[in-house]
Amino acid sequence: MGMGGGVKSRASTRVRRPVAATLFAVALLGPSSSAATNILAIRHWSAPDHTRIVLDLDGPASYRHRDLVDPHRIAVDVAGGRFRFSLDPIRIEDGLIRRVRFNVLENSGKAQVVLDLDSAARYDVFALEKFGAKPNRIVVDVKRPSPAPDPSRPRVERNLGPDAFGDFIVMIDPGHGGEDPGRRNPGGLKEKNLALTFSRELQTEVDRRRGYRAELTRNGDYFVSLRRRREIAEERGAHLFVSVHFNAASARSARGTEVFFVSLRGAEDRATKELVHAENSADLVGGVPPRDLDTADALGRMLVDLRQHDSVERSQRLATLITDNITGLRGMRTRRVQQAGFGVLKSLFIPAVLVEAGFLTNSDDVHFFRSSADRARYIRALVDGIVMYCEEVEIPRLGWTMHTVSTGESLSQIAQAYAMDVDSLKGANNLNSDQIFTGQRLRVRPR
Ligand SMILES: [Zn+2]
Repeated sequence: MGMGGGVKSRASTRVRRPVAATLFAVALLGPSSSAATNILAIRHWSAPDHTRIVLDLDGPASYRHRDLVDPHRIAVDVAGGRFRFSLDPIRIEDGLIRRVRFNVLENSGKAQVVLDLDSAARYDVFALEKFGAKPNRIVVDVKRPSPAPDPSRPRVERNLGPDAFGDFIVMIDPGHGGEDPGRRNPGGLKEKNLALTFSRELQTEVDRRRGYRAELTRNGDYFVSLRRRREIAEERGAHLFVSVHFNAASARSARGTEVFFVSLRGAEDRATKELVHAENSADLVGGVPPRDLDTADALGRMLVDLRQHDSVERSQRLATLITDNITGLRGMRTRRVQQAGFGVLKSLFIPAVLVEAGFLTNSDDVHFFRSSADRARYIRALVDGIVMYCEEVEIPRLGWTMHTVSTGESLSQIAQAYAMDVDSLKGANNLNSDQIFTGQRLRVRPR
């Protein structure tokens, strides 16, 4: 990507923030600029498919990068750079990057950051301008040679067709991560951490229900772009998408769960607009290479929107059933189901909701979600809502039919009648034993 320091990313236009003229001035001065740039901190995150190194700067910087062999390294030179932290190497040792070293090149006035790699790897270097509380940054993303499949999860086949019969796959999307902490409260509780804890427990609860299985878009503290989250859902053949977030408000009294489904037009009231803006800023806070930002043109977007109408209606029903099940839960309140233009929900062709489970700025909500017993009750109610939705909407849609058990009928007879094996029949009906009763309704594959 060559010279950095340019700040003409789409970020600035997307949030309609005026770009300060001084930033361009520095970019124009180029690498020979004598302006010093302090390198304040270095942070790193290891994700399944890449490792990210972030340099925090006190202003925009000019930099060059190149890769070197024997051994494989990536070097990033910051013109006029000054390290403001210990120059001891940082060990990463995640199978991709061995360590990060720092060199002061006094003659040329450069600060050099060297990444020692385990083997040759593709990488990206890009600059991020100041955004909110985040300073100017230089980001190095080193990609893992081939995306390592998560060995702890079985490979999932797509089963969206009407002939398909198998588990409902629920894609759980823990909001934020890595560079992007999301909301936080004065006590230091971060949305990204609570969302991940909650999402892992939600996954366990979904997996506990026979006929349902959950996957996570993020299973660690690293950044995933909004677009990548949608792609993961598509790659895994998910039937449903549930994004998990926690809210914040200046009014400490604001509390409770709000479940959103996508709006093709955009948010209505001001509070929702602010929330949508905060959630959609994730790519700018967390850092997406400028070329990966969503740049679909207006026409492309319109076509996407037209195709999405059907799933919007289903999303609304899913949001309503989740809210209904949470409503009345001791210690928790629910707010009305709302429609809003969240980026992570857009362009999904499966029912998708965004759950703002509670407010990090409200002590009752924080107390509730810090209690594992309360979280467990809440998560059971949420999953009940998902199951009710699937039974009501998705099973008829997928063409799966119901069989009513008559007197004397056994599980194996029914399985045989529908050309199924007993295990998949049990799996599809949350059965833990071979016991069935007369009048019981079973989900079966269409004949
Ligand atoms: Zn959020």
